[in-house]
Amino acid sequence: MVHPVIVWFRRDLRLGDQPALAAAVASGAPVIPVYVLDDDTPRHRRMGAASRWWLHGSLASLDVELRTRGSRLVLRRGRSDEVLSALAREIGANEIHAIHHVEPWWRNAERALEKTGGGSHALYLHHGNYLAPPGTVLTGGGTPFKIYTPFWRALNERMPPSMPQDAPSRIPAPDNWPASDALDSWNLLPERPDWAGGIRAEWTPGEAGARARLDEFVDRAKHYEGLRNFPSVEGTSRLSPHLHFGEISPASVWQAVIEQGGSVGTFLGELGWRDYAANVVVQFPDYGARSYKQEFDAFPWREGDAADADLAAWQRGQTGYPIVDAGMRQLWTTGWMHNRVRMIVASFLIKHLLIDWRRGEEWFWDTLVDADYAQNAVNWQWSAGSGVDANMFVRIMAPLTQSDKFDAAAYIREWVPELRAQSDAEIHDPDLPRTRGYPAKLVDHSSARARALAAHAEMKERAS
Ligand SMILES: Cc1cc2nc3c(=O)[nH]c(=O)nc-3n(C[C@H](O)[C@H](O)[C@H](O)COP(=O)(O)OP(=O)(O)OC[C@H]3O[C@@H](n4cnc5c(N)ncnc54)[C@H](O)[C@@H]3O)c2cc1C
Repeated sequence: MVHPVIVWFRRDLRLGDQPALAAAVASGAPVIPVYVLDDDTPRHRRMGAASRWWLHGSLASLDVELRTRGSRLVLRRGRSDEVLSALAREIGANEIHAIHHVEPWWRNAERALEKTGGGSHALYLHHGNYLAPPGTVLTGGGTPFKIYTPFWRALNERMPPSMPQDAPSRIPAPDNWPASDALDSWNLLPERPDWAGGIRAEWTPGEAGARARLDEFVDRAKHYEGLRNFPSVEGTSRLSPHLHFGEISPASVWQAVIEQGGSVGTFLGELGWRDYAANVVVQFPDYGARSYKQEFDAFPWREGDAADADLAAWQRGQTGYPIVDAGMRQLWTTGWMHNRVRMIVASFLIKHLLIDWRRGEEWFWDTLVDADYAQNAVNWQWSAGSGVDANMFVRIMAPLTQSDKFDAAAYIREWVPELRAQSDAEIHDPDLPRTRGYPAKLVDHSSARARALAAHAEMKERAS
């Protein structure tokens, strides 16, 4: 009897350059591609609402791609290790192939699955979602890097990544397919209310959508360095949700950009940040929950009704700071925000409003289509100054200056219609003149700055 082989898909929803699928196909056995909707293993880290919207589209697209190759996607729901072990027993599979993932809950699930196999089936983990396998870029002394710059230097020495592999043209199918849930029965899409209109208009989840996004970007990649900080222009790739869900491999992105030529080092360095973030959570699995610098446990974060009201104003884009409000509304509408603006809104929440970075991280987790445990945590801790490699807390971003410096006028006009009639000179600062229908500033910049520095000094004193 030929035993079928399971491919366990997670955040690697593609057929091209997918080493787990390639290994399963190479075995010559019938291949059973499976996705398990697992809300139990991640517990409070279950996917946020915007990610669930994306997941629906990505799974539908993966199924279509599989069917063109004589295969299909089997959907099951429950704890991954239990569901996969049961499925392996049901169909007589003794091999499960998967790409390794760095989230602590996925590492737990991988260990649990190895255990529950009890010798009857084996889990084979492959690498393919990062430029280099997380945990393998090491200092001369054999230890992992803590700081980005030397990490990137060492990673870059190992580049280019190996050439991406094409998707298999046929995928061997079993005589009988195991039962599958219907994707619609998972209710991943919002219904009442359907808040996803703006997200639908912006994105096409799935491998073909990722490829189209990359093809469109490669011509612009040589201008990336000059344009990437300007939210009013289309200067970045917008590949982040596709990379997060693994609809395209970073090696494919690297190769496509390199082939096009030009000065693309800065862009490749951002892909390096993605690998760096994975390298951080491999070392510090609870990075999304705990400040790396322990002194931040003594930070006097604001709490209570007034802080909650300020948090809600930040979430809804009603802070009275146009660049912050534009960013938060772009996030709410499209599930994505420009990187420069992410830095500004994060700094604003933490330093102007003195609200714990974890509350901002949580909001991003729920609302970003690219919500990624490692990238989100590393960037929030960078902004807070609490991270292993971080901006200093006392360097406080001035939102109005940032808005002017990075020419955000058109961006603000797009997302804050109340300010559309303002001139370029006035639009960054709503007090000049006061505009009807737009909120007054929640806090004044200079007093917020002084309050933040005092809170930081208090933390130092409490921690000493
Ligand atoms: C507070 C905060 C939270 C963030 N949370 C996330 C998150 O949950 N998921 C996420 O993918 N990115 C996150 N980022 C990083 C960055 O903002 C996005 O990756 C980027 O804006 C995505 O747009 P892009 O694809 O056009 O990026 P590009 O500029 O085109 O960069 C290409 C790719 O490089 C990677 N990358 C770029 N910048 C960073 C960075 N600073 N750190 C790590 N990887 C990077 C992304 O995968 C991105 O798609 C966060 C940044 C901040 C400041």
